[in-house]
Amino acid sequence: SQQPLGGGIVAYADSARAEEAPEPPPRKKKVVVLGTGWAGTSFLKNLDSSRYEVKVISPRNYFAFTPLLPSVTCGTVEARSVVEPIRRMFEKKGKDVAYYEAECFKIDPTKKAVHCRSAVGTNLDGNGDFMLDYDYLVVALGATVNTFNTPGVMEHCHFLKEVEDAQKIRKSVIDCFERASIPNISEEEKRKILHFVIIGGGPTGVEFAAELHDFLVEDLVKLYPAIAQFVKITIIQSGEHILNTFDQRIAVFAESKFQRDGIELSTGFRVIKVSDDSITVKCKSSGVETLVPYGMAIWSAGIGTRPVITDFMNQVGQGKRRALATNEWLRVPECDSVYAIGDCSSISQRKIMEDISTIFKVADKDNSGTLTLKEINDVLEDICIRYPQVELYMKSMHMVDIADLIKGGVGDSNKESMVVNIEEFKKALCHVDSQVKTVPATAQVAAQQGYYLADCFNKKDHCVEHPEGPLRLTGSGEGHHNFRPFRYKHLGQFAPLGGEQAAAELPGDWVSMGHSTQWLWYSVYASKQVSWRTRVLVVSDWTRRFIFGRDSSR
Ligand code: FAD
Ligand code: MG
Ligand code: MG
Ligand code: MG
Ligand code: MG
Repeated sequence: SQQPLGGGIVAYADSARAEEAPEPPPRKKKVVVLGTGWAGTSFLKNLDSSRYEVKVISPRNYFAFTPLLPSVTCGTVEARSVVEPIRRMFEKKGKDVAYYEAECFKIDPTKKAVHCRSAVGTNLDGNGDFMLDYDYLVVALGATVNTFNTPGVMEHCHFLKEVEDAQKIRKSVIDCFERASIPNISEEEKRKILHFVIIGGGPTGVEFAAELHDFLVEDLVKLYPAIAQFVKITIIQSGEHILNTFDQRIAVFAESKFQRDGIELSTGFRVIKVSDDSITVKCKSSGVETLVPYGMAIWSAGIGTRPVITDFMNQVGQGKRRALATNEWLRVPECDSVYAIGDCSSISQRKIMEDISTIFKVADKDNSGTLTLKEINDVLEDICIRYPQVELYMKSMHMVDIADLIKGGVGDSNKESMVVNIEEFKKALCHVDSQVKTVPATAQVAAQQGYYLADCFNKKDHCVEHPEGPLRLTGSGEGHHNFRPFRYKHLGQFAPLGGEQAAAELPGDWVSMGHSTQWLWYSVYASKQVSWRTRVLVVSDWTRRFIFGRDSSR
């Protein structure tokens, strides 16, 4: 039983090995990791790779620091400075980690194997296809762009997902300026060519708009004085406000700064079609359609599912969903030993009302059919770990302890002496599930999930039987020895707004805006760099820009 791998490598399956040596040392389990983005590299960096045989597949042999991609579009930071070679990242792990530059095009959960295709190598069959089997699979494939099937978007718009996209945008911006500088071009044509349209007012679109604006006023206006007056930047956003995942104060601050800068905000408009020189938008309130002439358009209006994920979801019976669903321990529940992290996946948080009878039974230690406050308090910690929505609900209702919540079920009674039956218990908790939160598709989440999952893998020996729990409440009595479910810790988020200003949302309802926040942004993003090499490169790019301005050559 031999399986040819890429490049003619031959792997022996378990049985063959067992025949050769009567008492082989226990075989290391094979972990295959798909993707080297935020989630995949965070997992790999934290995994104790001496315990496993690790194989990594990704079509790009580098990690890209995506938060700095908008800066690459205008040459504030060079493309080289935001990428770190994968092989260099795993240098220290030595021979325990193997990397193959290839794309996975099929996951086969029944055979526990992945099918991959290399763009460069050829194997003995004359193509670049190979198969890897796994004991554990970590899917960290990220997401792709989502055009919502809007006609013309694929053909005519730029995207900002990959390093190559940022480089293309940079070329294209300069192209527009050169095109508009050619003699004998009408004013109308110049206005069209120099109209930069950003579709989508989320963090990426907004940051790109700010970068572009700075590039124009700080550098290009000086270099192309004759056409500077024709430049216009527009953000088209279907919602009422830009940055709608941020605190309202930040959205307001950003909108007024953009207004002063002359960046046009078209909120409440949907793009319904893009042609080579105009965008058709529809006003959501009036239904009126308008043609917007443009020179360059960037689509950053949402993320979609990669085909290999869609195919896998169909195989495991998740065909109707938009992202691969995992349980709270990041495992795909429908199949064996497959985990998914980052933008390709979403956690489906278990609802407390689905388990309410079990919880009641576990809590009711004396089998009286009723719960006292003490009985509830004894299981409260487990409940809060397993169902984070309980705490969120109590917080949203300004309740200090569980007694306040339970009182909702039993009516007016003395906190200390109250007793609830199952119906009252249900009534008290019936609104709690409304507070189930989905985690956003961000680098922060992806990195935390990768870290968490590596931690689980490192400690797997302790809980081989139940690698993912369950806690006392959900069944098998393993108690606190098992792993706690993944819990996202939001450390805040930044929105750089150009002109050396930024807005930040920090933990504990803190909002900070302005020039000092931009310095905070510089220091945070310098410290978040994955290596000293990229840190030095990024900081020297910033310094160079301060002194000499951006490079405007193609
Ligand atoms: P990715 O990082 O996208 O990684 C996916 C990996 O899978 C890549 O290595 C890719 O090459 C590989 N891959 C793809 N297809 C295949 C295949 N078929 N087979 C094998 N490998 C494959 N988040 C923040 O928190 N803060 C920010 O400031 C921020 N700014 C952003 C700015 C931009 C311009 C963009 C695009 C994103 C930004 N994000 C930010 C979001 C963040 O980048 C994503 O949430 C994060 O990258 C998700 O990590 P991931 O590992 O799931 O996916
Ligand atoms: Mg990844
Ligand atoms: Mg990435
Ligand atoms: Mg996710
Ligand atoms: Mg009781």
